[in-house]
Amino acid sequence: MLYRLKKSGYQAHLVGGGVRDLLLGREPKDFDVATDATPEQIKAAFGNARIIGRRFRLVHVRFGREVIEVATFRSMQFQQEKQSDEGMILRDNEFGSIEEDAMRRDFTVNALYYNIADFSVVDYSNGMEDLESGLLRLLGDPETRYREDPVRMLRAARFAAKLGFNIEASTEEPITRLAHLLGDVPSARLYEEVLKLFISGYAVSAFEKLRHYNLFAQLFPQTEEALTHEEHEFPLVLVHKGLENTDKRLAQDKPVTPAFLFAVLLWEPLRRIARELEADGLPFYQALQQAGDVVIGRQVQQVAIPRRFSTPMREIWTLQARFHNTKGQRPHRLLVHPRFRAAYDFLLLRAESGEADPELAAWWTSFQEQQGLDPKGGSRAADSSKRRRRRPRKRQAQ
Ligand code: ATP
Ligand code: MG
Repeated sequence: MLYRLKKSGYQAHLVGGGVRDLLLGREPKDFDVATDATPEQIKAAFGNARIIGRRFRLVHVRFGREVIEVATFRSMQFQQEKQSDEGMILRDNEFGSIEEDAMRRDFTVNALYYNIADFSVVDYSNGMEDLESGLLRLLGDPETRYREDPVRMLRAARFAAKLGFNIEASTEEPITRLAHLLGDVPSARLYEEVLKLFISGYAVSAFEKLRHYNLFAQLFPQTEEALTHEEHEFPLVLVHKGLENTDKRLAQDKPVTPAFLFAVLLWEPLRRIARELEADGLPFYQALQQAGDVVIGRQVQQVAIPRRFSTPMREIWTLQARFHNTKGQRPHRLLVHPRFRAAYDFLLLRAESGEADPELAAWWTSFQEQQGLDPKGGSRAADSSKRRRRRPRKRQAQ
């Protein structure tokens, strides 16, 4: 791929997380390529290429099942004139030199280029040094960079969690202060960031970092509120255990569905509203349903949860009420519900966290065994067949 560009007379570099992870001896998730060829020239060099992107034009080059993202070096120059009042970059698509491209990236460790012409690592910002000392350092003035793109604050927390790096002091300082700027970021983009934070195998650590920097409250205000004002421990225990399970499942290459993740994260605010509705005389099932509407309605203002996940999430919640029916034919009917596995996992989680009755959970475990089912088998796989049918669309560098 790189060589094809080179043969056509262009510069070609691997850049970003792929280079960083390789240098750290980790398995790279994906590779990005940066080049001085324009999108049209890249497309001409590869038959199997497609220009995508509104904010930035990129080229996706397909290799079998892999898609490699190829971007033309970006310039700095458009930044000044195209900023909104808050300093956010509105649009930029101008091409520049590799040095300029490097300055546009977020952290020094993400701005290392692997040059295939001579197999050298090109480093314009002491990225190597930071990589060796495990430091996340923003390029340029941190406050300005966060104002340009507040998602960089989430990225700082995410890379700190993923790589176990420290955030360098001046990069760290503005975060808590500027966390509120995430309110200006489109909810669909935040949804993608949330998935990267919580469905990448380091959710527990990411959660802790996000809370530490007051970023979690911007993403999940209802959850934060419930966690801060709860007298009991179990809401936090439930979130922790839920995220821990997610990390474990990913470590074992088991599927994880966003529906379950969001069900966990929003359970406590939901439960509080449901409790009030129940006190007003509503049956548990309907209380869960109505509270679900309220909680989702508020949540999607920050983080857009696609309907294909919010629908099963609702079912996971409302089925919690149906677990109380252990008489007659009803348990048999519940067993064949498409969301039974996920809902049962959720019940276990609640029981382990001290919120649901462990005897009820145990009843459902032995009921399945009596029916010749393995309570540990299959699990959430059924719900997640559609999981990430496509990868979350990549957002590119500023
Ligand atoms: P991951 O391991 O999660 O893929 P990554 O560093 O590759 O990490 P990507 O989101 O894939 O992250 O972005 C690729 C590269 O693009 C980054 O390494 C960075 O150089 C640049 N980049 C991405 N997002 C931004 C941003 N918001 N601001 C500046 N540069 C960015
Ligand atoms: Mg990447």
